[in-house]
Amino acid sequence: MGLLDGKFAIVTGAASPRGLGKATAMMFAEHGATVAILDLDAAQAQAAAADLPGEGHIGLACNVTDKAACQAAADACVEKWGAVDILVNNAGITQPLKIMEIEPGNYDAVTDVNLRGTLYMTQALIPHFRERKTGAVVNLSSVSAQRGGGIFGGPHYSAAKAGVLGLTKAMARELAPDGVRVNALCPGFIATDITAGKLTEEMRASVLAGIPMGRAGTAEDVAGCALFLASDLSSYCTGTEVDVNGGSLI
Ligand code: NAD
Repeated sequence: MGLLDGKFAIVTGAASPRGLGKATAMMFAEHGATVAILDLDAAQAQAAAADLPGEGHIGLACNVTDKAACQAAADACVEKWGAVDILVNNAGITQPLKIMEIEPGNYDAVTDVNLRGTLYMTQALIPHFRERKTGAVVNLSSVSAQRGGGIFGGPHYSAAKAGVLGLTKAMARELAPDGVRVNALCPGFIATDITAGKLTEEMRASVLAGIPMGRAGTAEDVAGCALFLASDLSSYCTGTEVDVNGGSLI
């Protein structure tokens, strides 16, 4: 028996083959969920959905910064499946800039995908969740929000991911009476395309020295925590943030 048997889940930004979204979609499907992979490119989203075990998965083009596109994707899933139980707001981008290097366009791009996209995609499903009196939302924040910096992000990324934490708590408070739970994940240094090839050996050694567990996280390390927050195992958790960082904040 899977933890998500009979559940329908949407995961945004899940077409990247080595990404956290794809690993999460895979783990959800292995636990019995039917999954929709949303990403910028329809063909890539469909290819990623075709990799998942089980039947009924779909891949859809959806730019999460476009409110109408979020609504169209949510509606398409409800129409096809009859219900959506879980939303993982995973789509995100980083820009490794310092404070004075951030131009208005940089700020807009990073906050639009990470923060505005999380709001828009969740808004698209709230009426449906409210109607069914159930729903689990998992938002991807970051250790960059908690410690004010990261190697890859940049201050605007830290700010956007801190915004995701605030949004998570506010949405959790407002939606709790409707039976909808909203939680956040704060991954640390995870080996994905966002981090691949961006570190010299020296930088890598210095990053690992700050991680008590002494290794980078894997996409599956994060997916396991997303599974916990999406499933009934976390039925009394809302507005929480789960750290997935090998002890980086101890
Ligand atoms: P990734 O780059 O591998 O995947 C991100 C995906 O988001 C890509 O498939 C991309 O096409 C998609 N995307 C980008 N803009 C989009 C948009 N406007 N609409 C829809 N999809 C869009 O990244 P990842 O490492 O798997 O990260 C996933 C999430 O986890 C992100 O929110 C990221 O900020 C967060 N995170 C990652 C790490 C890490 O170390 N990898 C750490 C902390 C937080």
